[in-house]
Amino acid sequence: MRVLVHVEHQAGAVSDTAFELLAIARNLGAEVEALVMGAEPATLAGQLGGADSVIAIADPVLKTYLPDAHGTALQAAIQARNPDLVLLSYGTAGLDIAPPAALRSGLPLMCNAVALHPEEGELAVRSQLYGGKLEARARVPLPAIVMAMPGAARAEDGRLSGTPPVETVAMPSRSEAGVRLVETLEPDTSGIDLTQAERIVCVGRAIGGADKFAPVEELARLLDAEIAGSRPVIDAGWLPKARQVGKSGVTVKPRLYFMAGVSGAPEHLEGMGDSELIVAINTDESAPIFARAHYGAVCDMFDVLPKLASRLRDS
Ligand SMILES: Cc1cc2nc3c(=O)[nH]c(=O)nc-3n(C[C@H](O)[C@H](O)[C@H](O)COP(=O)(O)OP(=O)(O)OC[C@H]3O[C@@H](n4cnc5c(N)ncnc54)[C@H](O)[C@@H]3O)c2cc1C
Repeated sequence: MRVLVHVEHQAGAVSDTAFELLAIARNLGAEVEALVMGAEPATLAGQLGGADSVIAIADPVLKTYLPDAHGTALQAAIQARNPDLVLLSYGTAGLDIAPPAALRSGLPLMCNAVALHPEEGELAVRSQLYGGKLEARARVPLPAIVMAMPGAARAEDGRLSGTPPVETVAMPSRSEAGVRLVETLEPDTSGIDLTQAERIVCVGRAIGGADKFAPVEELARLLDAEIAGSRPVIDAGWLPKARQVGKSGVTVKPRLYFMAGVSGAPEHLEGMGDSELIVAINTDESAPIFARAHYGAVCDMFDVLPKLASRLRDS
């Protein structure tokens, strides 16, 4: 099987999700070709030891992310290589460029994949739907395009040493872009940098309001931890955006990640799944977080948090 892996990168660094895709492709026992696009994409080959070869599409228009330019380049790579499988990450760029590529190439597209394996000449795909509440199992004939969920494999397994051979493919001419980059805005971290925190207490929607934080603040104080929130907590304005962990927030890797009333949706796990120790409290014993937490307790956070704080105060 020949697999073409779409490699996302930023500021000269290949993204973790690209390493995860390389790991998935290698697990399939496939011949792996990494597709990199950019102004000087060949310079990234030294980070792509997880691939057998690299196809580089170089063009100044690919310097920043523009959906139609990157989509055109992806299409050119699929045409040039005719791979059995194209792998992209289920993120902003993948969501932009994979569906048009499937449409134009006539290939089937599978999304939200968390596990893949070859089965009777086809590809068996397990996908997570509705934030992990449902799991779908399907089989797709090859060739196909699959978008894998971030966290579906370990980035370390795709981050291998070595510099594979690079072949450069020309960027096809394209009509004037419908989308152009106007400005890049860096997030306002307001002095908070959760990425550096050793301990984090994260609250989910279950906290129920900005006026309910007292037990959480007390626990965080006793643990010398930063407070973070899932997206609904930030959307509701109960915590500032700089404290959002997950796909559209920050990615953290603390020594302790303590979660209260967070369900463990894939978009949240994407931002904290590599934490050293995950402890979760949830009233629902079937909450997806219990499949990921090292320690879990099925109980009411408003019951447990004050008791935990009291224990810590006494110790
Ligand atoms: C493109 C995209 C990007 C996203 N980015 C992010 C992101 O960056 N970060 C993020 O977090 N989400 C993100 N999401 C949203 C994500 O899919 C989930 O909707 C979100 O993570 C759910 O937050 P939650 O766990 O707090 O809420 P819920 O899923 O509503 O879970 C609340 C949990 O609290 C439990 N509970 C209720 N009462 C109690 C109690 N008294 N004590 C203990 N437990 C209780 C419930 O059993 C439940 O499991 C994104 C979604 C999309 C589509």
